[in-house]
Amino acid sequence: MIPYGRQEITAADIDAVVQVLNSDFLTQGPVVPRFERMVADYCSAGHAVAVNSATSALHLACLALGLGPGDWLWTSPITFVASANCALYCGAQVDFVDIDPHTYNLCPGALERKLIEAERAGRLPKVVVPVHLCGQPCAMAEIHALARRFGFKVIEDASHAIGGRYQGRPIGDGRYSDITIFSFHPVKIITTAEGGMAVTNSAELAARMALLRSHGITRDPALMTREPDGPWYYQQIELGFNYRMTELQAALGVSQMDRLDGYVARRHQVAERYGRLLDGLPLVLPWQHPDGYSGYHLYVVRLQDAGEGAQRRVFERLRAAGVGVNLHYIPVHTQPYYERMGFRPGQFPEAERYYRCALSLPMYPTLSEADQDRVAAALKEALR
Ligand SMILES: *Cc1c(COP(=O)(O)O)cnc(C)c1O
Repeated sequence: MIPYGRQEITAADIDAVVQVLNSDFLTQGPVVPRFERMVADYCSAGHAVAVNSATSALHLACLALGLGPGDWLWTSPITFVASANCALYCGAQVDFVDIDPHTYNLCPGALERKLIEAERAGRLPKVVVPVHLCGQPCAMAEIHALARRFGFKVIEDASHAIGGRYQGRPIGDGRYSDITIFSFHPVKIITTAEGGMAVTNSAELAARMALLRSHGITRDPALMTREPDGPWYYQQIELGFNYRMTELQAALGVSQMDRLDGYVARRHQVAERYGRLLDGLPLVLPWQHPDGYSGYHLYVVRLQDAGEGAQRRVFERLRAAGVGVNLHYIPVHTQPYYERMGFRPGQFPEAERYYRCALSLPMYPTLSEADQDRVAAALKEALR
């Protein structure tokens, strides 16, 4: 089966991890800060906080921004559930903003309309989480302008988008948001097995996330409520978690960072080649906004004819032909857990239309031309 995504692990990656295994520190050593500095510099961000997953990064980002009971977080319904669940971890409530039918990202026009209504009802969100779906940047300038007008904070869920650019600047530079989070799960652009990172230009937000990442414990006398009892002393000043990234994971991340630009360039080549191979088929190919340079985590096509059972038929034929096609994502508001909160199908029609005709084709930097030809041929056959 040709998978929809997969990691590449090189001899240099293995060496880097083995070196850590032979060192003094498996966790809380020097490699995590090195990885953080590397990602922050890459993104032109001031600070980075490495954690054990992007889900943890989203949770810490929400807490750092003060999200809590009585607050609302809004995100796109076409995302992984973690983009919404982070609000629930904080005791806040979730709502969604429908997607743009061309980019499949949260639609800034729909956001503005919903904000105007929410202002009247006195229920403005505290945090909005735009998700750069497939790696394509959201309309961040527009979202940022709305954030200033309506007074909400912005967390970019850039799980798909490290290595991408918006208006010529790296995703994560924080020009239009408060915090950006990345995922290093193996299907994502670079991997640490499990892992994530939050980047920000705010020293205060970074310090808060770093504190909560490790139990809310500090060894900094300046933060303590009283004089240290002795050199052993630490204080727990908040209720935090163990969300730490290990040195092994960070070593893999540092090693993978060397190949980040090459990976994204290669993903663009794969996308361009799909464009040629799939030309003329009854599909909508990914449309790219001129403001963005996508990380191209995913290559999503939409069936032009999504008649009764068509998507399922094509999906099953592709799987039977050894093509590990996938579907990103099931609209979050239609998940049973969210339906129990009162969400109903029909609330976000563009997202639901997208869901009925989207398919993710195999997309990763080591996808061979021969395998890509097989995908295209199988898709052509499946569409007959
Ligand atoms: C993968 C993903 C996450 C969660 O990432 P983990 O590192 O697995 O926790 C969150 N949001 C989006 C959009 C993702 O694709």
